[in-house]
Amino acid sequence: MNAEIVAVGSEMLTPERVDTNSLYLTGELNNLGVEVVTKCVIGDHLERLRDAVRHAIARSEILIISGGLGPTEDDLTREAVANALDRKLIFHQEISDALEQRFARLNRKMAEVNKRQAFVIDGAAILPNERGTAPGQWVEESGAVLMLLPGPPHELKAMFERECLPRLARLVPRLVIRTVCLRVAGMGESDLDQLIAPVYKGYQNPATTILAASGDIQVYLRARCATEAEADALLREVAGPIELLLGDRVYSRNGETLEAVVGGLLRHHRATVSVAESLTGGMLGERFTSVAGSSQYFIGGFITYTNEMKIEMLGVAPELLDKVGAVSRGVAEAMAVGARHRTKSTYALSVTGVAGPATGAETAPVGTTFISVADDTGTEVLERQFLGDRTRIRNFASQVALDLLRRRIKSRT
Ligand code: ATP
Ligand code: MG
Repeated sequence: MNAEIVAVGSEMLTPERVDTNSLYLTGELNNLGVEVVTKCVIGDHLERLRDAVRHAIARSEILIISGGLGPTEDDLTREAVANALDRKLIFHQEISDALEQRFARLNRKMAEVNKRQAFVIDGAAILPNERGTAPGQWVEESGAVLMLLPGPPHELKAMFERECLPRLARLVPRLVIRTVCLRVAGMGESDLDQLIAPVYKGYQNPATTILAASGDIQVYLRARCATEAEADALLREVAGPIELLLGDRVYSRNGETLEAVVGGLLRHHRATVSVAESLTGGMLGERFTSVAGSSQYFIGGFITYTNEMKIEMLGVAPELLDKVGAVSRGVAEAMAVGARHRTKSTYALSVTGVAGPATGAETAPVGTTFISVADDTGTEVLERQFLGDRTRIRNFASQVALDLLRRRIKSRT
């Protein structure tokens, strides 16, 4: 079954407000095995809304409309849906009375406009609103079902859960949804897609989505089947070949973060780590320590932004800095060696680079980054040229550094 969502409200066509209701609704529908195929935001405009409703119910079985059920002139959802279905709006005295009582309980007199909220589309079921004034409506029309829900998220959620979910559960064939999330480091999004598309393109089910952010890629596989066993088998059938293609670039299969995976490896091997950060200014330390229990393996770090600090805190040789500059292979190595030496950690990571936007004293172009790991067998250095703004470059650098350590630990065991 397919669903569509329309978020109603001109405010969501401004830069200030976003439609979040549809995200919640999409999650709930997906849990039922219903795919959301189209969603949109429409301003408070009768004809546009009416046309959108007509189109949606002609092609999808479920349409959820959020917002525009309030009492004011710009709340047009009731009229628009009635027009689209060619049905009348019928005044319900009991809704009006209940509204009046609600206002009376708050020691207020109900304004005349609130009576607009007592109009119900002919044939619709009324969905009580426990948290607000606007009742929702459930309308069935030639093979499609429409839900009119209030805009305020807490009202919409409560109503959807109480009134719509049980009705939908009776309507929608039971499906089990199982997901796998492969997290991948060390390759670009388009390279990854090119590599694995031949596998997943052959399947509509499981559905595959790829999310990429600064060197961290998540491959989501979502299988929808009649039974759990079927869904799991289908996931294995598709995830297996994908994992084989990606090899050790897959760092987790259950959504675990890279810092958690690296932390787990360190703990497993009873090893420790320290960091020496220039470009990332503490991001590595932040990521390591965001994991509960990191005190077992994370010793500490040095944020050494200036040359003086690199010399003083890490023992980087002044002559080296003079000769090759702070953003260099040699200084990255010296930083890692220095951090390891001073903290007595098993491993040390270092990052030095140009975050931009201006190159400053550096001669290297923006994005040039050296990342090093040191252990008792020596050092390893990566040189990378990251693209993008400051935030992206720094995120990338911290990701690549953690992945360098992950590979280093794995290569030794
Ligand atoms: P009300 O009786 O409050 O007017 P309504 O059903 O008419 O209810 P709207 O007027 O459309 O709802 O929206 C009321 C408020 O709810 C908006 O100002 C906004 O803050 C929030 N809201 C509406 N739609 C959404 C949405 N799709 N996502 C998130 N918030 C929303
Ligand atoms: Mg309103």
